[in-house]
Amino acid sequence: MAEKSSVEKARYDFKKAMQEIVNIRGHGTELISVYIPASKQISDVMAYLRDEYSQSSNIKSKSTMKNVQGAIDSIMSRLKTFKDIPENGIVIFCGEVPRAGDQTRMVQHVLNPPDAITAFLYRCDSQFFTEPLQSMLLDKKMYGLIAIDRQEATLGILSGNRIQVLSHFESMVPRKHRQGGQSAQRFERLIEIAAHEFFKKTGDKATDLFLDKAQDMLGILIGGPGATKDFFVKEGYLHHELQKKVVDTFDTGYTDEYGLKELVENAKDAIQDMDLVKEKALIQRLFSEIRKQDGGLSAYGEDIVREAVNLGAVDVLLLSEGLNKRRITVQCPNGHTYEQTVPDADEKCSCAVCGTTATIVKNNDLVDDFFELAETYNTDTEIISMDSEEGGMLMTAFGGIAAILRYKIQ
Ligand code: ZN
Repeated sequence: MAEKSSVEKARYDFKKAMQEIVNIRGHGTELISVYIPASKQISDVMAYLRDEYSQSSNIKSKSTMKNVQGAIDSIMSRLKTFKDIPENGIVIFCGEVPRAGDQTRMVQHVLNPPDAITAFLYRCDSQFFTEPLQSMLLDKKMYGLIAIDRQEATLGILSGNRIQVLSHFESMVPRKHRQGGQSAQRFERLIEIAAHEFFKKTGDKATDLFLDKAQDMLGILIGGPGATKDFFVKEGYLHHELQKKVVDTFDTGYTDEYGLKELVENAKDAIQDMDLVKEKALIQRLFSEIRKQDGGLSAYGEDIVREAVNLGAVDVLLLSEGLNKRRITVQCPNGHTYEQTVPDADEKCSCAVCGTTATIVKNNDLVDDFFELAETYNTDTEIISMDSEEGGMLMTAFGGIAAILRYKIQ
């Protein structure tokens, strides 16, 4: 699989699993979450779980006790399949989840987190404990941050949702109240020299801290009160490679660490736009093909796109994150086998040919199914979020499945 696509896929899988896990509620306190850092020995985790298992025999409700013990059992047998804990650790969610009627169903999710798990954690609750994972974004979007006025400057990095302060320093620019005896003109001149030195120092600091990361930065955000920040940008104190990355300036009340937080908050819309630039560009490329008289190099709709992928005719496959469907393979006792896309799938259904009760032998997320298919043709696949107007249109107007083609198909 193309490396880019596999990152897309891992991100999709993680997001998808999280969406499901976050919404699960148990009957009682019987859903288990286990966070295991890479440094932890599996044998220690096993010992911990055996202890929890024996303690659970004190649980008053028999059904809760049975479910907790079942979940611990299931986690332990899953852990036996691991030789070592992966680099970032693993997170296991396991428990009996209510289904229609009085039925329950055992769910188990084993996630490879995009960021490292640092502490071992065991929770048993009526919902899964997901907070530590919420802030982990698989593809780290990085921005440079500068908050500046004439008194101080703070430089930092926004990575995912985290703000890291890299440098903070004060200027030598005198405050506006003037010392007695100095001429106003001379004083103004001193202020301007000090300010120039301070802006230059800030620019140099930005070069030291940001230049080697500039390639990975989506942009640089500049904040501060008043006009100083705009002056700093306009007068070219930043290295030209960094200058190109400046998204915009934003008003903030402060220029310290808190100022960086304000900056990120106030730049939220601009950040969202930047994050979506690539997705928007792909959809716009698709739309410009669709607008051509003969439909250009576009295809949309599940069947046509599937056919185009099978012909090896797809340049970029576009799948909406909003596609909540299953691709199932059905087999009936009378020998009928077929594939079908459905909104939701149970284990059984009736055969579309003869009506007999049939078995679903394969049940895949539709996006996963397309991913697998595209993989065999080495086709570039992009998951499109619903966070932009273009992404929303892909879902509502084109059913969430489209392709930009290499060549026209009949
Ligand atoms: Zn049949």
